[in-house]
This record gives sequence, structure tokens and C-alpha cells, in this order.
Amino acid sequence: MVWRYNKLENILGLKCLICGKQYRPDQVDYVCPEHGDEGILDVQYDYDFIGRQISREYLSRSNDLTIWRYKPLLPVHPDAQVPPLSVGWTPLYFAPRLAADLGLKNVWVKDEGRQPTASLKDRASAVAVVKAQNKGAEVITTASTGNAAAALGGLCASIQQPNVIFVPERAPLAKIAQLLVFGSRVILVKGTYVDAFDLCLKASKIYGWYNRNTAYNPYMTEGKKTAAYEICEQLDWNAPDRIFVSVGDGCIIGGLHKGLKDLRALGWIDRMPKLMGIQASGSSYLYEAWKNGEDILTKQPIKAQTVADSISAELPRDRIKALAAVKETGGAFVSVEDKDILRAIPELARGAGVFAEPAGAAAYAGLVKAVDQRLVSIDETTVVLNTGNGLKDVDGAMQAVDLVGKTPYRVAPDLEELKQVVSGWKE
Ligand SMILES: *Cc1c(COP(=O)(O)O)cnc(C)c1O
Ligand SMILES: [Zn+2]
Repeated sequence: MVWRYNKLENILGLKCLICGKQYRPDQVDYVCPEHGDEGILDVQYDYDFIGRQISREYLSRSNDLTIWRYKPLLPVHPDAQVPPLSVGWTPLYFAPRLAADLGLKNVWVKDEGRQPTASLKDRASAVAVVKAQNKGAEVITTASTGNAAAALGGLCASIQQPNVIFVPERAPLAKIAQLLVFGSRVILVKGTYVDAFDLCLKASKIYGWYNRNTAYNPYMTEGKKTAAYEICEQLDWNAPDRIFVSVGDGCIIGGLHKGLKDLRALGWIDRMPKLMGIQASGSSYLYEAWKNGEDILTKQPIKAQTVADSISAELPRDRIKALAAVKETGGAFVSVEDKDILRAIPELARGAGVFAEPAGAAAYAGLVKAVDQRLVSIDETTVVLNTGNGLKDVDGAMQAVDLVGKTPYRVAPDLEELKQVVSGWKE
């Protein structure tokens, strides 16, 4: 393997979240050697240096509408080649109709379904392929509930980078199809995501494959944090009061927190939004740990079962960062039932025109529940992050419309029969 380490001037080091020990980026690739696979590292930046490279004014003149507009804030070399797929700068929609339904004034929806492979995971996979290329890695690997895999498959295809993907065999078909179409080598693991993760980790160690795994590779959070930059920039640097996001492993919510902390450190936003982590009641490890004050370093895995496959996690890998995100911002975890997640799919689609997969709609279900529990006040500005496109899980969407009693009309190709149907409509 070719070793091409260029010092990254914007980075001070990688800090272990368990022992606080700090490493140079050329010393470790993934986790703290003293804490094995649990020793997740956090990238530490030199904000004085970064502040001299980039500013809000500079960004206002930038015509790079991808995550790379924030390159000085990312763990890549300034001259690093980036993949050609357009990742980032997804739309942030004002949603007055949803706001009215909820009795709120300011509701926004950020639609990550518009990413090249249709989920937020593209933000992380884009960074992964740059890091892997920099290391001269021949193969990149990841385990995933589906979307991280599809993202890696797509980003790798865009630069002809060989990759091996481990997914649980019950991942939705659309996600598996994406991988096969992109040409990834796909390993369907007869087991859960945890099983796929463990097997992938073992394989990467034996074969020397570059590992993109969430909450193992410290740079994935760094890609995901760009969603927070965009939310604030799209709101003219007026940080919202709350951001609702669904939580599985906890990497996205940890990434949002990191992005917001970066912006605070640079003085680009003047307050910290409260992060609202939404979990499915059938996969609510973090919600329980937060509510009961449990120790997440010793809390055992739970059984996870939810229609929202992307947030099904028995042991959230990025639980340290996820819990900190909610606690340090004064947010909350909210748990929502599968039927509320399913109901949220057509509600979000009809109210804002955004079609989400179950895990994406869960964020909206969380907002509905939080309003119900009076956690949100009328004047607050809230952002709902739709993390994945509804076409990722057509089965889930069909269950959702079934639940709200929406069925198509079946007619013969005959005008009289059609007229009978139309005459029965009430509006
Ligand atoms: C991965 C994913 C999530 C959860 O992200 P974590 O980092 O695992 O918490 C939520 N929604 C979608 C669509 C995802 O793909
Ligand atoms: Zn450590």
C-alpha cells in the first residue's frame, strides 16, 4: 500500500472519546489503540487556521454547490481530488402547511433524498473515498443497513474504486439493487447489522481494505456534519431552535452536533440549536439510556425491530457522540411507534411534497410527538431532516398508504365506469 501522508494543516489531532488521548492523523487510521474497536476518535481542528482560509463572505461568493465548498473544514488536503458526483447542498424547504398542521410558525424540511444515491450517507461516503484514495487503498469496505452501502457503492463507481459491501440479508430490495447496479461486490450476511458490521471489521483487518464503517472510521462524522453547515447557511446563518433527526447508530446526530460546534467556534452562528434525536420504539437504546440515565459504556445491546430499517440498531455504534449531542445542546430523545413513523410518510409527503423512507419520516413523527408533549413552542424555528428518499423502501410506503386508507381506484378502460368513480368523490 502506498503511504502518501500529507500533513493536514487544519487538523490538530484525533482525540479518543473514552480516554482523551490525542493522536496525529498519521499515527492511527481508525480507533484509539488503547480502547480497541470502541475507542472512537474525534477530529480536532485548528479554528484560527481555518478562520483565515474561509469565511461566511467567502462562502456567499462560492459557486461550488457541494459539500466541498466547506473544504477547509473537512479532513482532506486542499488539493485532494474529489469524486465527481454532486454531494450536498440539498434543498431546505419552508413548510407552512406542516407548520399550520402542527400549530407552529416556522417549520423547514431539509431533503437528503435529493443526494446522488438518495440518502444523507453520501456526505460521509464522499469523504471516505477521498481518504481511501489518499492512502492508496485498493479496496474500500463497509457494513451498512443499506444506505451507507449504496452511498459507498455510488461514490466508488464514480471513480472506478473497487469495493466490498456487507449488508444484512433483510435490507430493503431497492438498496441491494442499488449496490448491484453500481457494481459493488455484495455480501448478504445471514444475520443483523451488528453481525454484518463485525464480519466486515474482521475482513478489513485481514485483507487490508480501507474501512468506511460508521463510528469506526473517525472521518464519517466529518462528512455528515456538512448538513449542519448547510442548514445554517441556508437560513442566512440564523441557527434554528431545533433540528429533528432520526437516530440509529447516532453518527448523523453526532455529525450535526460537530458541525454546529465548528460554526460556534468560528463565530458564524450565535447560538446552539437543540438536537432532537428520534428513535423507533422498537430500537430505542439511546432513548432509554438518556431517559434512565444509564451508562452507555456498559449498557448491553437491546433487541431491535422496526419498520424503519435505517435506524434499527441493537447497539448504536456512535452512542457516545449521539448522547453528547442531545445532552450538550439541551435537546431530547423522543421515541415513536412504527405506526406513527408510517403515518408520517404521507403526512410529510402531502404537507411538503417530500417523500421519505421510514427512517426519514421518523424525524417528522418525532416533531409531531414533541409538539404533542409540549416540548416545542409556537415561535421556534424547527428543521426536520429527511435523511432518505421514499423510493428506497416502496414496501414501507405501501404499508403507510394502506394504514391511512389510501387505495387506488381500479377501472376498466371505460369512460362510464370512470364517471361512476368520479361521481363518488366528495371534493
Ligand atoms: C443511516 C440513516 C439514519 C440514521 O443515522 P445514524 O447515523 O445511524 O444514526 C437515518 N435515516 C436514514 C435514511 C439513514 O440512512
Ligand atoms: Zn482511548
